[in-house]
Amino acid sequence: MAAKTVNVTRAHDTRPNNTRSGAWHARTAAETCIAFETGTDGLDHQEAGRRLGIYGPNQLPAAARTRPFLRFLAQFNNALIYVLLCAATAAIVLGHLVDGAVIVIVVLVNAVVGFVQEGRAEQALDAIRDMIAPHATVLREGERHTIDARNIVPGDIVVLEAGDKVPADIKLLRARGLTVDEAILTGESVPAEKSEGVAAENAPLGDRFSMLYSGTLVATGQGYGVATATGASTEIGRISDLIGKVEMLTTPLLRQINEFSRQFTWFAVATAAALFVFAVLARSYDWVDALMVVVALAVGVVPEGLPAVITITLAIGVRRMAARRAVVRRLPAVETLGATSVICSDKTGTLTKNQMTARRVATAQGVTGLSGAGYAPEGKLVAEDGGAAEPDGARDRLIQAALLCNDARLVDEDGQWSVLGDPMEGALVTLAAKAGLHPETEREAWARLDEIPFDAQHRFMATLHEGPGSERRVFVKGAPERVLAMCIDQAGPGATRPIDHAYWQQRIDAAAAGGERVLGFATMVPDAGVDRMAFATVTSGLTFLGVVGFIDPPREEAIAAVAECRAAGIGVKMITGDHNGTARAIARQLAIANDPKAIEGAALDRLTDAELRAVVDEVSVFARTTPEHKLRIVRALQANGHIVAMTGDGVNDAPALKQSDVGVAMGRKGTEAAKEAAQMVLLDDNFASIVAAVHEGRTVYDNIRKVIGWTLPTNGGETLSVVLAIVFGLTLPMTPVQILWINLITTVTLGLALAFEPSEPNVMRRPPRRRGAPLLSRFLVWRIVFVSFLFMLGVFGAFYLALWRGYTQGEARTAVVNAVVVMEIFYLFNVRYLHMTSFSLIGAVGTPAVLGAIGVAVVAQIAFTYAPFMNDLFGSAPISLVDGLLIVALGVLTMIVLEIEKAVMRKVWPTAAYMA
Ligand code: ATP
Repeated sequence: MAAKTVNVTRAHDTRPNNTRSGAWHARTAAETCIAFETGTDGLDHQEAGRRLGIYGPNQLPAAARTRPFLRFLAQFNNALIYVLLCAATAAIVLGHLVDGAVIVIVVLVNAVVGFVQEGRAEQALDAIRDMIAPHATVLREGERHTIDARNIVPGDIVVLEAGDKVPADIKLLRARGLTVDEAILTGESVPAEKSEGVAAENAPLGDRFSMLYSGTLVATGQGYGVATATGASTEIGRISDLIGKVEMLTTPLLRQINEFSRQFTWFAVATAAALFVFAVLARSYDWVDALMVVVALAVGVVPEGLPAVITITLAIGVRRMAARRAVVRRLPAVETLGATSVICSDKTGTLTKNQMTARRVATAQGVTGLSGAGYAPEGKLVAEDGGAAEPDGARDRLIQAALLCNDARLVDEDGQWSVLGDPMEGALVTLAAKAGLHPETEREAWARLDEIPFDAQHRFMATLHEGPGSERRVFVKGAPERVLAMCIDQAGPGATRPIDHAYWQQRIDAAAAGGERVLGFATMVPDAGVDRMAFATVTSGLTFLGVVGFIDPPREEAIAAVAECRAAGIGVKMITGDHNGTARAIARQLAIANDPKAIEGAALDRLTDAELRAVVDEVSVFARTTPEHKLRIVRALQANGHIVAMTGDGVNDAPALKQSDVGVAMGRKGTEAAKEAAQMVLLDDNFASIVAAVHEGRTVYDNIRKVIGWTLPTNGGETLSVVLAIVFGLTLPMTPVQILWINLITTVTLGLALAFEPSEPNVMRRPPRRRGAPLLSRFLVWRIVFVSFLFMLGVFGAFYLALWRGYTQGEARTAVVNAVVVMEIFYLFNVRYLHMTSFSLIGAVGTPAVLGAIGVAVVAQIAFTYAPFMNDLFGSAPISLVDGLLIVALGVLTMIVLEIEKAVMRKVWPTAAYMA
């Protein structure tokens, strides 16, 4: 019954957010349907559209974003900036207007860059969040539709199963084994049992057993019901303003860097104070001059732009990952992905294509093959020698079971056949059609009375049907050894006979060894009058019919991705519910290991945690596992020091996803429960996308190291030069305002460019970073010290060379400022490749970001040197072209020294130590 068009005012009267709200738990299902003018066929599309117009989309109002102006102000709320602003005030008060103005400009430019980039990062994250917006199944005009959960309206009939997130408040019309995790509403961690019926009017939320509430998760079972409230009118919408909260742009690494910057600031301030005292007392500096020098130094050395650049680097990583079909739900995953040392993956659909084709049917009488490819119902049964298939009663019954104990449908779109539902079940519909059955007619003739849905835990599905002449039959399909264990005999030829276990084992092993997925079938005639199935009635006394073998080829891109992982020192483990033999054959085709070792779930159960730890590194295939095994496997791997990425799709996978370092949920076949628990969602369910995300994760980490590796020593070089000049009472090679100028011009150009670096070519050819490896690795510390000294040499070299050539102090200082910027540019090229030489064509060409940054810096330097007003402001003076060339030569020399150092270091420190 499709709903009639509802009178708007009436629908309005029954709006769940009016005074009668919350009372649906105390009403019958029929009353609720009448009130919402709906029925078991759901609404019609037009009416649903109309209601959407009235009630609005089913979503909670997003938490108000901070206003842009406040967000801009927040950029200044930082210890580093306070120090800089104090410095600017001091400079202005002491009459050094230019110095003060430059510091203010430094602060403003940093704030603007931070503000703009942070806004872009947030926008990117929002767009990505939309890519994984939840979906829900509703009945409209009698048909199931999967729709965006935002389009659910009151009166919609919503269908739910284990793993779904309840998309609205719902009055149950039917429930089977339904339990719901309502912790989000009630705080109760044990799932609540749900059933049809009427609860007391004053029942508390947790006792309203016939209601499901938006935002809760279906733990087990199935059911459907009427949506009684959507959006902000739902219970969760009323009590919570937490949902839809904007995720903070922060990660452990970012916090570590903020903390580092803060400590560093105080260190810099303290050192500057000491230097000030020394300059005034021991070197008889005028105190105002001394103050300006130390202020400029503090400004120069403090990496005030670093946190913003690193946020940008992370956001760019998130965007690049999304472009490669991996959506990061929690920002810290970007960092962790780069350190991943083991990826545990499901098989079906992730490593394989999940395009199933039934290849053969084996019964007691013999094996029958099938012609045709894909889901197209074209082809026929053929004997093993290629001739026509012999008649076989057991096979006919098996094929009938395959069609009826099955929820899939085939759809034909212009000759392109595809499956609605489980691909393996789709392949069985194709099999039935090839055998001459008409799916719709057969399913109508044999109406389904009851079912036990498939569950990874019990590994079978059973249905009860009533056929012509009121004949009733139970059909079961499932993992063959599981179904065999439920049987007492086997079908034909002729009468039933005892089960020939050896025969079936041999059939199953042969198919599995070829990588085929095998399914067993059985049937029984229930006792008269039975119209419901209990678990116990179907788990014994069945008659085994035979097995079907399916092929599900590995994804080509997964083969390449596995090879990439092996080169990158990342272990790949296949964790599957499938048969040991099948899983190993597929693992071999994917080249997961040279000789993949396998262990079955049952054997795993017999191992203690310590024993599991001892073998877990060696084993690459875990077969016939249940989701509970995943948790133990993750823990064992983590105990062995691994950083583990784990895939999952079902509701029972949630604990393992949460336990792993990077939980990866399937975007297509994954349940909402798995997505909620995961840190990352794959839009295409593809193993290759995980590896792509690891690749990007490594790049992000590399780029962060590059940003730090560039920023700290360039700041350090300038500082060291001036400190040395003061300590030894030499003429300052740069004035305070010139130091500020360098800082202004390079941090927002050169420093930012490294955030946009593409991956280094060898990014997936080196081992993963160690768990807990410090960001400032020994190598980076060495680099900071070495480069700081090198820059200091450059500064004094340029300064004394210019003086020796007879230049004035102003000209010599101009040469020094130019030399510093030029060396920073050359050093940038050196840092772009931490793991290989930068002397290559791609190394020399750079990226648009690098070239743009250099362009800006060069133009600024030309202005600094030649523009008269700049000369006035900064005390600079024009220098000759020859001197310009000499400065570039100095840059080249720096680069050569650094490349030699890199080559030597790569020998001294093999890659692993290099990172640590
Ligand atoms: P993976 O865990 O890699 O995705 P899988 O799909 O084989 O592999 P499960 O879905 O846990 O894992 O299935 C386990 C076994 O249960 C399968 O190997 C098959 O024998 C059986 N099975 C799977 N789907 C069904 C179904 N719809 N009906 C009956 N039995 C099924």
